[in-house]
Amino acid sequence: IALQLNDPGLFRQQAFVDGAWIDAADGRTIAVDDPATGEIIGHVPACGTAETRAAIEAAGQAQADWKRRAPAERAAVLTVWHDLILENSEDLARIMTIEQGKVLAEALGEVRYAASFFKWFAEEARRIDGAVLAPPARDRRILVLKEPVGVSAAITPWNFPLAMITRKCAPALAAGCSMVVKPSELTPFSALAVAVLGERAGVPAGLFSVVTGMPEAVGAELTGNPAVRKLSFTGSTRVGAILMQQSADTIKRLSLELGGNAPFIVFDDAACDLAVQGAMASKFRNAGQTCICANRVLVQSGIHDRFVAGLLDEVAGLRVGPALDPASTLGPLINDAAVAKMRAHVEDALERGARYASAPLCVEGRFVSPVVLTGVTTDMRIAREETFGPVLPVFRFETEVEAVRIANATPFGLASYFFTASLDRAWRVGEALEFGMVGLNTGAISMESAPFGGVKQSGLGREGGHPGLDEFLEIKSFHIGGL
Ligand code: ADP
Repeated sequence: IALQLNDPGLFRQQAFVDGAWIDAADGRTIAVDDPATGEIIGHVPACGTAETRAAIEAAGQAQADWKRRAPAERAAVLTVWHDLILENSEDLARIMTIEQGKVLAEALGEVRYAASFFKWFAEEARRIDGAVLAPPARDRRILVLKEPVGVSAAITPWNFPLAMITRKCAPALAAGCSMVVKPSELTPFSALAVAVLGERAGVPAGLFSVVTGMPEAVGAELTGNPAVRKLSFTGSTRVGAILMQQSADTIKRLSLELGGNAPFIVFDDAACDLAVQGAMASKFRNAGQTCICANRVLVQSGIHDRFVAGLLDEVAGLRVGPALDPASTLGPLINDAAVAKMRAHVEDALERGARYASAPLCVEGRFVSPVVLTGVTTDMRIAREETFGPVLPVFRFETEVEAVRIANATPFGLASYFFTASLDRAWRVGEALEFGMVGLNTGAISMESAPFGGVKQSGLGREGGHPGLDEFLEIKSFHIGGL
């Protein structure tokens, strides 16, 4: 493949189980393509039940020692892992770009974001404090201990092949857990590269395994095996529901980061340029393929035309092209199905009365042009489903009450954004939006220090920040009597 790396050892075509690089027992593999060309860039083992079970078993053994290490000792390993990721950021970005398709500058940004979780949670590892409660009686004391959940599992998506792994494994390991990761079969090489660096950082064998393979078989073992105490999943609501059902028999703890349908509301009194910049940042990152992308842009009548004109200026500056070309700002979509879905959403909207404000949609292979639609209404598919592509649908509204009603009229509740200069409206709308995350006058809401996650059918639990660590900790009440 045309992948030039400073360190070719970062590109591994084997799974990483119990500190060893392995093939599937039956020798089967999965081909991985470059979304830009459809060309096969490599193969990974199609692991199944046996390999997953071996990884879980090893994770149990490794965790027994890891949890007893002093937090500072665990933090030291995570800090080296962090440094190695940054030192190898160029190579990691290239691997990510060729398997996922995001442009190189964004891939570099994701590498830094991915590394930031190791730093944050290495720091937090030393602050996993318990409590001594007020005694309930003269001869009694109660302590509260925080303990690692145990063996954990992660199932991760293709849109952030590196950060969705580090956001889970950094808090897991900081807390004293071990982890078995099943990366997306579309983007396994970033996960394997991070495993190479973990090995070099001194992560003990078995503590962190990467099992590549077909989702159903690996997923069934990760959810069905009673030794796994916790599953952290990022992906679609459909698959999240399946995993939740499969985890029911063993009462696993779950963190689910699922689909969104983010409203992006621009009020008449908003700073128009700021709102345009926010919409661009939120909509076109990763060619529109993030779960927090603005999916429904609601614009008040008085600012509508000015906002759309500003948007069109910016959209005209986007460059669709090969992700490794520094001039490109939009790479290809992940696969043919993604292109078909975006096309179907645009066609459905046009049939129901929306209009192109930008140039019409242009598709070449998996490269699609960015599109702005106006006159969008709530009956359209684009309003009800997550589009996952570079199309920006603009609704017009009259009142604040109407905007909030439309924004909340979805089963999803992940990200939301609104732009206003009014203090009282900022509070009112911020509190009225039924979403796990709200951006006021900003389109950027992902950072390692802030809790990330959704309400309603967008999921359970939070990643990042202090709550991200709590997801991997159990609370034990320790009662002492007879004093
Ligand atoms: P997306 O729509 O973003 O691709 P998916 O939910 O399909 O999201 O995929 C997210 C992750 O879930 C991927 O790693 C995928 O392999 C995995 N996955 C899909 N189906 C299953 C399943 N039945 N069991 C376990 N994992 C699955």
